[in-house]
Amino acid sequence: MRHGPRRQRTRSGSACALPPPLRCAAELDQGEGAGGCGQCPPAPTTKRARRRCRFPGTRSSACPACGCAIPARDLIPIVSYLALGGKCRACKAAISSRYPVIEALGAAAALAAVWLFGFTWSGAIAGAFFLSLVALAGIDAETGYLPEAITLPLIGVGLLANLFDLYTDKLWALIGAFAGYGTFFLISTIYRRLRGRDGLGLGDAALFAALGAWGGWPILAPAALLGAVIALLGLGVRSRLTRRPIDAGAPVPFGPALCAGGALAFIAYQRGWPFFA
Ligand SMILES: [Zn+2]
Repeated sequence: MRHGPRRQRTRSGSACALPPPLRCAAELDQGEGAGGCGQCPPAPTTKRARRRCRFPGTRSSACPACGCAIPARDLIPIVSYLALGGKCRACKAAISSRYPVIEALGAAAALAAVWLFGFTWSGAIAGAFFLSLVALAGIDAETGYLPEAITLPLIGVGLLANLFDLYTDKLWALIGAFAGYGTFFLISTIYRRLRGRDGLGLGDAALFAALGAWGGWPILAPAALLGAVIALLGLGVRSRLTRRPIDAGAPVPFGPALCAGGALAFIAYQRGWPFFA
C-alpha cells in the first residue's frame, strides 16, 4: 500500500493529496464521514454499500466516485454496464457512458479486422491499428490532444507492415506518410499565418501521416473528406443535444472524426469499394 491512512491523517486539514479513490478509502479507514477533507467526492453512506467496499482498491479497478473496488463480475464489457443500469453497485453514482462506448468501439475494431482479413497475421495487426484509432479518438475527445506516444509508433508500425506489402504497396505507404504529414502541416501553417491562431494541431498531422502509412496515399483524401463530414455531423448532433447553436470559433477536436474517417477509408480501400478500385 503506497498511501496508508497514517499519511492521510498527518495531512488532514490541508488539501488532500491522494488521488480520489484512495482519499475516500483513507477517510473510511479513519471512520470519518463523507467528504471529510473537504475535497473528496462523497463516500458511500449506506451500511450495505460500505460492506461491499474492499478498501483501498489500488490493485483492481475502483469506482471514481466512491473508491470501491469493482468486483470482476461488474467488469464484463457492456454487459455489466447494462446489468447495473449504468450505476455503481456500491454508491449508485452514474458510470460515464464513455466506458460502454469505448468497449463497443473496441469490439467493432476487432470484428472489422477479422471481417477483412480473417484470423491471420494481417488481421491481428490490422486489429491493433483499429484499436489504436479507438484509443486516439477517445483520448482526443476527452483531452483535445493526440499523444505522440501513440501516433508516432503507429506511423512506424504501419510502414513496417507495408514493407511486406500487407495492406498496400510499400512505396505508396511511404508517400502516404509524408503526404499525410505534409498536407496537414501546410494547412496548419497557412491557417496560423492568416488567422493568427492554431487551427489544426500537429497531432492531427501525425495521425494523418499514420493513416497514410497504413493505407497508402489513396486513402488520404477520402479519409479527410469522411472525417470532415463526420465532424460536421457530430457538431450538428451535439448542438441538437445541448440546444446550443454551433459556435464557429470554439475549438473542435478533429481527431475522433479523422480516426473514424480513416478507418472507413482503410476498410473501403481493402474491400476495393467503387471509389477506391
Ligand atoms: Zn461507487
